[in-house]
Amino acid sequence: MATLTYTPLGGAGEIGMNMYVYGYGAVHDRRYIVVDAGVTFSNMETSPGVGIIMPDYRWLLDIQSRIEAVFLTHGHQDHVGAIGHIARDIDVPIYAMPFSKKIAAVRLEDMGIPVRRITSCKKWPRTVDAGPFNVGYLPISHSTPQSAGLVIDTPGGRIIHSGDFKIDTNPVVGYRFDRELWQEVSGEGIAALMCDSTNATIDGSSPSESILGNRFIEMFKQCGGMIVATTFASHVARLKQIADAAATCGRSVVLVGRAMLKTMDAAVETGVIERIPNLVSIDKARSLPRNEVCLLATGSQGEWRSAMSALSAGNRYRGLRIMPGDTVLFSSKTIPGNELPVSKVLNNLARCGARVIDDTVNYYHVSGHPGRDDLTELHSAVKPYLVIPIHGEYRHLLAHAELAKSNGYRSMVVENGTTVDLLKRRTLDDDRVDGTIYIDGKVRADSGYGFIKDRLRLAREGHVAVSVLMKHEKSSVKNVQISSSGLPDPVILAIDDEVTGDLADHLESLDRRVLRSDSELKTEIVTVMNARFRNEFGKSPIFTVAIHRS
Ligand SMILES: [Zn+2]
Ligand SMILES: [Zn+2]
Repeated sequence: MATLTYTPLGGAGEIGMNMYVYGYGAVHDRRYIVVDAGVTFSNMETSPGVGIIMPDYRWLLDIQSRIEAVFLTHGHQDHVGAIGHIARDIDVPIYAMPFSKKIAAVRLEDMGIPVRRITSCKKWPRTVDAGPFNVGYLPISHSTPQSAGLVIDTPGGRIIHSGDFKIDTNPVVGYRFDRELWQEVSGEGIAALMCDSTNATIDGSSPSESILGNRFIEMFKQCGGMIVATTFASHVARLKQIADAAATCGRSVVLVGRAMLKTMDAAVETGVIERIPNLVSIDKARSLPRNEVCLLATGSQGEWRSAMSALSAGNRYRGLRIMPGDTVLFSSKTIPGNELPVSKVLNNLARCGARVIDDTVNYYHVSGHPGRDDLTELHSAVKPYLVIPIHGEYRHLLAHAELAKSNGYRSMVVENGTTVDLLKRRTLDDDRVDGTIYIDGKVRADSGYGFIKDRLRLAREGHVAVSVLMKHEKSSVKNVQISSSGLPDPVILAIDDEVTGDLADHLESLDRRVLRSDSELKTEIVTVMNARFRNEFGKSPIFTVAIHRS
C-alpha cells in the first residue's frame, strides 16, 4: 500500500546539519526526495579537531536508485554545507534558488564536482517534477536572500516544509512574508506542515530586519575613528544596511574576508541587490581618513582565521589596524558553543583601545527565526492537518509541538532517524537510521568509532608511552623507557627520577610466564602504571606500551 513518509536525518534534535527525507509509495518501491544537506561545525568540548559534522546519510546510499532529487531551501551552511559530499556519493538532480545555488556551488567546487549539477529554480507557482513529487519554492523571509519554504505535492496530499523563516513584511533584502500567498497555497488543505522551531521557546515575535537601519545611523554618527562591523557573512540584508548607514554618515565601506566577498558577489550576480555604491578597495581605504572608513569583516563567531580575529590581535590586516578611538560592532548573536573564542576576540579588541559593542546589548541584531507568536501566525495561515516541528533541539521541538496543540492542531515530535507515516500519523519500525559522520582532516569517520572519546581523554589526561626491551633468551628486562606528552613538568621529572626505575624493578620481579607473553606483560604494565599515575598524580593518561625482544 502506498504510504507518504517523513524521515528527518538531521536537524530534528539539534540546530544544525538539516536533512529531511520524504517518501511516497509501497515500502519496497517507495520513491524519495531529500530536503537540505547541512553541516554542523565542531567545537572543542565535544568534537575537538574535527572539521565538519554531517548526518549519517548511509541509508541514502542504500536507496539511492529510488531518490528522485535533492532540494535546497536556502544557502545557510546548516542546509547546504554537506551538498558536496552528497553530490559525490549520490547521482541525483539537485535544485536550489539562484542565490542559494551560488553558495552551495562553493561546496561542490571544494569536492571537484561541476556546479552544473545544481539546477536553478524559479519561485512558486513554478514547480519541479520529481517522480511522484511535485515541488515548488514558496518565498519566505529569513536572514539570507531567496529563502523558501517548499510546497510538496504528492498523490497522498500536499505538504509544506517551512524551511528557516521569520515573519517579516519589510526584510530590506530578500522575500517579504506574504500571508495571502501562504494562505492561498494552503487553501485546499495541507496534510502536514514541517516548521522551524529554533525560537519556539521565545515569546513574542522576531522584530523586522528594517528596524536596524536607523539604529546603525544613530550609532555611526557618534563614532570618531574607524568603524569595524561584523555579522554573519551570509546576511546580505544586514551587510547592506550597515553599508547604507556608513554611506549616510560619509563613510566608504571595505569588505574583508573571503566569505563576505563571495556572498556579496553572489548577491549582485543573482540580482538580489545592486552593487554597493560606497564600496572601496582595501588599498583605497588605507589612503582615506580613519573617520571616513567602515570595515565589514568576517569573524562574528570568533573564528580564529577570520579578518576580525586577525585585527583583534593588534596586527595589521592588509595595512589596516585597530587603534584607540575606533568602534567595533558585533551585529550578530553568539551561537552557543562559540562563547569562548568570541570572548577572546572581544577582550583583544578592548586591549587595542577600541570601543566594543557586542551582542549583549541586543539592539543591533534581530533573529532570523520565528518567535512563538510568529509560529502561531504561520500555523493559522497554513491551517495544516498536522504540525511537525523541525530545526531545533529536543526542547525546541517539544515546545513547538505543545504550542501547535494549544493552537488547536495535531502535532508530533519526530526525532532524527525516525520514519513516520504522515497520513496515519504513526511511527514506522522499518528504515531506522541515525547518527553522524565527522570529516576529520581528509578522512570521513563514523562517530561510532569512539575516536573522539580517546581524543577528549588525551586532552584531559595526557599520554604516556612505555617502551620495554627484553633479552629474548632469558626473558629478562634489559631496558625501560617512558616518555609522555601533555603532562606537566613535575610529572616528567618524577618519571625520570623514580617511575621508570620502579617499573623496571617491578617487571624484574614478575613470573617468567608473564615476561614471555607480550599481551600479559602489556596488561601488567598498564595496570601498574594506571594505579601509580592515579594515586600519585591524580591523572589517568592514555598508555601505549611497546615491547621489543632482542
Ligand atoms: Zn538553519
Ligand atoms: Zn537559515
